[in-house]
Amino acid sequence: MISFYPGPSRIHDDIPRYVKEAAKKGILSINHRSDEFMHISEKTIGLLKKKLNIPDDYTLFFTSSATECWEIIAQSLVARRSYHLYNGSFGQKWYDYTKRICSGVRQYPFEREELVNPKKYRFGAEGGVICITQNETSNGTQVSNETIRLVSENNPNHLVAVDATSSMAGIALDFAAADIWFASVQKCFGLPAGLAVMVCSPRAMEQVEKIGERDHYNSLTFMAEMMEKWQTPFTPNVLGIYLLMRVMEDSKSIEAVEKKLVKRYNGWVDFFGNSSNLTHLVKNTAAHSFTVIPVAAPAEVVTTIKKEAKKKGLLLGEGYGELKASTFRIANFPAIKKEEIEKLQRFLKSFV
Ligand SMILES: *Cc1c(COP(=O)(O)O)cnc(C)c1O
Repeated sequence: MISFYPGPSRIHDDIPRYVKEAAKKGILSINHRSDEFMHISEKTIGLLKKKLNIPDDYTLFFTSSATECWEIIAQSLVARRSYHLYNGSFGQKWYDYTKRICSGVRQYPFEREELVNPKKYRFGAEGGVICITQNETSNGTQVSNETIRLVSENNPNHLVAVDATSSMAGIALDFAAADIWFASVQKCFGLPAGLAVMVCSPRAMEQVEKIGERDHYNSLTFMAEMMEKWQTPFTPNVLGIYLLMRVMEDSKSIEAVEKKLVKRYNGWVDFFGNSSNLTHLVKNTAAHSFTVIPVAAPAEVVTTIKKEAKKKGLLLGEGYGELKASTFRIANFPAIKKEEIEKLQRFLKSFV
C-alpha cells in the first residue's frame, strides 16, 4: 500500500534498514542518561539546525507529539494571553487545548480562502503568545514566511509560536521570523510517529525563565535544564531520535527538498486544473499549502475514488472533520516517490 495520507504518512524507504542498524548497535536498549545517548541527541540537534537552517542560538527539544507542544506552550510560555489565528481544525484544536489551561485565550478565525493580513493583528502592549498554524493540514492552506515575519514585527512585545507539523522538513521555514516552532515527525520528516521537535528562540527561552513554571514533567524550565546535557526529563523515544538523526544525515538541503515539493505541487494544480469533477478545495492559489493537497468532489465520487484507490494499493487521506464527505487529501511529502505520484495520477485520470 502506498500511503498518500497526510500523517501518519509514507516513511522513507531506508527506515527498516536504520531500525536494523539500531538493533545491531544496541541502541534499542541504551540508557537515556548515557554518553551514547547524549552523543546521538547532540548530533541530531546539530543536523536539524544545519539541514533546516535553524539559527544557531535557538534551543531544540524533543517531545512526543505536536499536541504535547501545544500544551507545553500553554503551560510554560503563555503567562496570561494567547492569540490564535486559524482557519482550520488543527489551529482550532490548538486554541481549544490552550483554553483549558490558560484564562486569557483569544481566537481570531479567518476564512479558508483568506490570506492573513498582518496589518489586522496588533495586540497591544501587554505581552502574550501569538499562535499561527503555518500549514493547516485539515484544509490544505498555508501562511507564508513573510506574513509570519510581519505579524512578528508588528507585535514586538509578543512571542510568535508556529505549528509547522505538516511542513517542517518539507519547505524552507524562516525560523528567525518567529520564537517557537514545532512539528511531529510522522508528516514531512517521513518517520514513524511518536516523536516531535520543538524549536525555541533566545527570546522564548528568556520568557520561559521569567515565568519559571515548574509544575509539569514537561515544563520548559525543566526541559531546558536537561537539554544542557542533551537529555530529556523523561525517557524519550530513543529509536525515534536515532532514526531522525539518520534521516537528517542523508537528507538534502531544505532548499532542494522544497524545490522538489513545489514542482510536484504545481503538477497537482495542473492535473486538477483540467478537471471538471475533481477540483482543489481552495480557489485562492495564494493560500495553497505546498505539502497537503485537498481535493473536492461530489460525495459519491469521493466514496468511489477512496474505495477503488485502496484496491489499487493507493491510500488517500480522508477529508478532515466537516470536509470528510466532500474531499480527500493527498500528501505531498518528501518521502513519496515520483513513480508513486505517477501511479496515483494514472488512477485518478479516469475520474477527472
Ligand atoms: C498532525 C498535526 C498535529 C497533531 O500532531 P500529533 O503529533 O498527532 O500531536 C498538529 N498540528 C498539525 C498542523 C498537524 O498536521
